[in-house]
Amino acid sequence: MTTQDFDKPRSNCGVVGVFNHPEASILTYYALHSLQHRGQEAAGIVSFYYDAQAQKKKYAIYKGEGLVLDVFSDPKILTDALKGDCALGHNRYSTTGSTKRVNIQPFVMSYHSGILAISHNGNLTNTLSLRQKLSEAGSIFQTTTDTEIFLHLIAHSRKKNIVEQVLEALRIVKGAYSLAILTQEALIAARDPYGFRPLNVGRIKTQDSYAYIVASETCAFDIINAEYIRSVNHNELIVLDKETIETGEIKSYKIQDITPEARHCIFEYIYFSRPDSKIFNHNVDKVRRKLGKNLAEESPTIASQGEKVIVISVPDSGNTAALGYSRVNTEKGQPTAFEIGLIRSHYVGRTFIAPSQDKREFKVKVKFNTVKGVLKDRIVVVVDDSIVRGTTSKSLIKLIREAEPKEVHMRITSPPIRFPCYYGMDFPSKEELIANYYEDEAEIGKAIGADSLHYLSLKKLLESVPQEEGIGYCTACFSGEYPIPIDKNHNKFSIEL
Ligand code: SF4
Repeated sequence: MTTQDFDKPRSNCGVVGVFNHPEASILTYYALHSLQHRGQEAAGIVSFYYDAQAQKKKYAIYKGEGLVLDVFSDPKILTDALKGDCALGHNRYSTTGSTKRVNIQPFVMSYHSGILAISHNGNLTNTLSLRQKLSEAGSIFQTTTDTEIFLHLIAHSRKKNIVEQVLEALRIVKGAYSLAILTQEALIAARDPYGFRPLNVGRIKTQDSYAYIVASETCAFDIINAEYIRSVNHNELIVLDKETIETGEIKSYKIQDITPEARHCIFEYIYFSRPDSKIFNHNVDKVRRKLGKNLAEESPTIASQGEKVIVISVPDSGNTAALGYSRVNTEKGQPTAFEIGLIRSHYVGRTFIAPSQDKREFKVKVKFNTVKGVLKDRIVVVVDDSIVRGTTSKSLIKLIREAEPKEVHMRITSPPIRFPCYYGMDFPSKEELIANYYEDEAEIGKAIGADSLHYLSLKKLLESVPQEEGIGYCTACFSGEYPIPIDKNHNKFSIEL
């Protein structure tokens, strides 16, 4: 059992690319570190450098299982081995393919047009059929991931230049992808036509020039003092090359001729992305506060006059929304105060040895403790972002009750999760989702031991996120309405390969 088995959907991957910086791999390392929440199973960096003797660009690569700080614990890996002025990085959590070492990204290939490295965040939905076709055409797969499909399609392309080869490949695949691709000449970034996953572009002033960076979230820019330029648009491929450095112009291409209305993953705002990040051109923090505020308006906590109601968050992901919730003084509800009632340990290791008591409960205790003086005799409103299996919520409420509050009410800043995600997030199967076992939220509340439970409605969720022309949201894990059809047997992908 790993400590990552906590009852949350697991976000998949973080991608980073740096172009034209003398310390490209060091910047990539720090950017990956700030994106650690997007994947904690493995990390990798590839760098491109000019070999004067061979008079051509070569690459160096280093990957390993574990957190970024552990994989690159020897500074020499970055300073000596991963030399060069361009680098590409990836944090992995596997959504397709097993956790085998061979599946750790970035992937690199040497082919007829040169060297190309790729980092992918997302999940393709026509992997099985493409893999079958490519295998029949002679492709030999080295990994069990959907990402490798891109490499084979690019290598199979008859187009003359790499950008056209990549575009051709992207027109064949279906599903969710935010990609960073490094070639000997350029850094390429692309988001699928629906733009499920975020991807941003920024730049850094160097002594006499500019370096360009792409990253899943802008917290990766802040750590290395990069300036945010914009989000890569859905259905857009951009090229950052020598000309971009000279003129500042970012070349932009459409993937499909007609750009559909975007289907940004709404869960990125609810839980996956960091609150200090910008994604899809908007601040996550602002949206998350609004989620809390709308939740408070929709389901305030009612208490008798004179009773003390406090709002606490399940840290860290519930913090911002809990603040938003606590600031609403609705007509029906009591004024509430935001308090720190749960303390989270950030030093939980990757593996977990439980003494002979309930493993789930002990695991919650390893991660959280209560501030008893804050909770005792209070009516406690616990704000969290989601409930998946419900097992952690149940143990958490039990833990909170040990601090003797008067009542414990659970408020969730998302609707009940009832459906799996096929676009790059790892939810447990439908059968494991607690919302599929009960008629209504009152019953779920009872099952997890809360005095009351309210979820944010889908309508209010959609009102909480930025409204823009041409931008819509994927809500499939709540509504079952999937924007892209899923390959038959998609679920069998990682088992069969
Ligand atoms: S199904 Fe849910 S988690 Fe997956 S992309 Fe859609 S909103 Fe995001």
